[in-house]
Amino acid sequence: MSLVVVGSIAFDAVKTPFGERERMLGGSAVHFALAASFFSEVRVVGPVGADFGDPEYAVLHERGINTDDIEQVPGGKTFFWRGHYDYDLNTAHTDETQLNVFGEFQPKLSAESRAADTLFLANIQPDLQREVRELCDEAGLVALDSMNLWIETARDSLLRTIAAVDIVFMNDAEVRMLTGEGNLVRAARAIMATGPRAVVAKQGEYGAALFTEDSFFALPAYPLEAVNDPTGAGDSFAGGFLGYLHSQGDSGDADEGVLRRAMTYGSVLASFNVEEFGTERVRRLGRGEIDGRFAELKDMTSLEAVPAR
Ligand code: AMP
Repeated sequence: MSLVVVGSIAFDAVKTPFGERERMLGGSAVHFALAASFFSEVRVVGPVGADFGDPEYAVLHERGINTDDIEQVPGGKTFFWRGHYDYDLNTAHTDETQLNVFGEFQPKLSAESRAADTLFLANIQPDLQREVRELCDEAGLVALDSMNLWIETARDSLLRTIAAVDIVFMNDAEVRMLTGEGNLVRAARAIMATGPRAVVAKQGEYGAALFTEDSFFALPAYPLEAVNDPTGAGDSFAGGFLGYLHSQGDSGDADEGVLRRAMTYGSVLASFNVEEFGTERVRRLGRGEIDGRFAELKDMTSLEAVPAR
């Protein structure tokens, strides 16, 4: 029973109105894996360079994440992303992307990773996502995230990858951009018509919406007073969501209640991620804090008045 993620493993340089970091551990697969590790056993697939050392591995190992399929390229450099945010923390501005070891990456998966029953194709070049999807042909639940860069530069490949997954996670603007459909409901339907059974449209500080063929569910983001760095919020959301779904044994047949709880765990993990820079907050997180915030979100979104806890 394992949950496998392929995606970027990165060093990030991030500047927000509340601070900056010149080089910190990041990447879509890292943020996802940390969040999912609170619910499931997680294996990370992806390349790193010679500059990726013990302190970086330690962040993953402290959470029990399996790194056997992280390929260290001798003399190579780890993927690097530099970005900034203005006061609208919902919009990341990319200043620099160095693919480095990802430029030459050919996924090689161990037998254990190939046997994944849940697979997350975190944000990375869509051809690579599809290669991994084809290698993990036993996975009963496959989900994907992507971004505007790949919609602009590799749209056809991305559409082929989307057709081979069960759940698509994207920002609402990206859902619209990909489909050329301004209305989010119709845009989500257009994606589902190509194969996936669900679309999760992430809406930054406004929360996230889940579309399936016959249902709709939406949650606000947990109302935080201090948001310092939104980098990785989307991946942490997907990690909480899929980590929980995987722990419930979902292989494409989750009932509506399980999906709604997955949305809630996704929101909770994303909320902790954005409180501090990079992985700082999630590294210190405990399961009790997660469950406490889950209960709060449940109360906040109840249609009935709820007595104070
Ligand atoms: P998000 O959850 O969308 O905020 O994801 C943030 C992470 O995505 C950062 O830690 C970056 O390292 C990573 N990232 C940024 N651009 C790319 C890209 N083009 N491909 C893969 N990962 C990226």
